[in-house]
Amino acid sequence: MNGEVLIGIDLGGTNCRAALVSLTGEILVLNKVPTKMHEGRDFFLARLFRLCDDLIQFAAREGLRVSALGMGAAGVISPTGTVTVSPNLAPLNGFPLAAAIQDQFSLPTTIANDANAIAWGEGILGAGRIFSSFLTITLGTGVGGGLILDKKLWKGTDGSAGEIGHFVVEPEGRECRCGSRGCLEQYASATGIVRTALECLERGEDSVLAGLEPEDITSLKVSEAARGGDAVALKSFRETGERLGQVLASVANLLNLDGVVITGGPAESLDLIRPWMEKEIKARAFDIPFRRMKIVRGELGEEAGILGSARLAHDELVAGKKRVDLGPAEN
Ligand SMILES: [Zn+2]
Repeated sequence: MNGEVLIGIDLGGTNCRAALVSLTGEILVLNKVPTKMHEGRDFFLARLFRLCDDLIQFAAREGLRVSALGMGAAGVISPTGTVTVSPNLAPLNGFPLAAAIQDQFSLPTTIANDANAIAWGEGILGAGRIFSSFLTITLGTGVGGGLILDKKLWKGTDGSAGEIGHFVVEPEGRECRCGSRGCLEQYASATGIVRTALECLERGEDSVLAGLEPEDITSLKVSEAARGGDAVALKSFRETGERLGQVLASVANLLNLDGVVITGGPAESLDLIRPWMEKEIKARAFDIPFRRMKIVRGELGEEAGILGSARLAHDELVAGKKRVDLGPAEN
């Protein structure tokens, strides 16, 4: 290590996790505090600043210098690091968070949408290294997306690009939290997988899952049942695979990507999803982009957001030697 380290932060609705990260993606120390956004912005900022300060002090004691700070957060994040709109972090809406952190610590700071940070991490340190242009799909409570085109992160003009989870796969389908209906994430997320299984159970279909309380059924339980040959569980993964494949066929035709990296809990069951997904893509996409687009599982695991945001800060703010003018910290 050359003495330079980064801070990577994963800001979620429940926890705010921050780590000191080497340039090669090694986590040196990881701390977390509850986000507790309901207590308001100032209390949150005080917790966040203490979390960062502890890491900076730790680095100093080890003879290391923190060169940049990166954060991934759910929602639309402007190119200058203002939280434009984030349902889980509502007290921060409209707040120039990157500028506030940068002012507090005199540290170059960048904030990206969490799925974008994961895409960058996979692209530099993980499964996306082999691709120039690829899409990362994160299957969790929702479905997130991050697009790397020619080795550059495509955030969109306002920072809202990559929302693959809200591609419509069923115009009159399940209601989505975005206000639309039949979005991909209602079928392909961990939540969607469980919902498909619950709908089968409600119709009286036979399944080992019927022995569980509905609130105890998780996507992991569904995948375990599927591995035991359970018809309902297998149907849930078939649904997930087909819906993903329908969307990815259009993605292949539109963007002619090298690949797709699938991450998040349900990605552990990619083998159950893949046959259905590839069948749909093959049936619907043009042959040339279908054959080009390799689909692989993410490699960075649960810390992808921390590693990706740290590395994004380095690559945007240190390697390019440019410091983004974030404007004043107060709005
Ligand atoms: Zn939606």
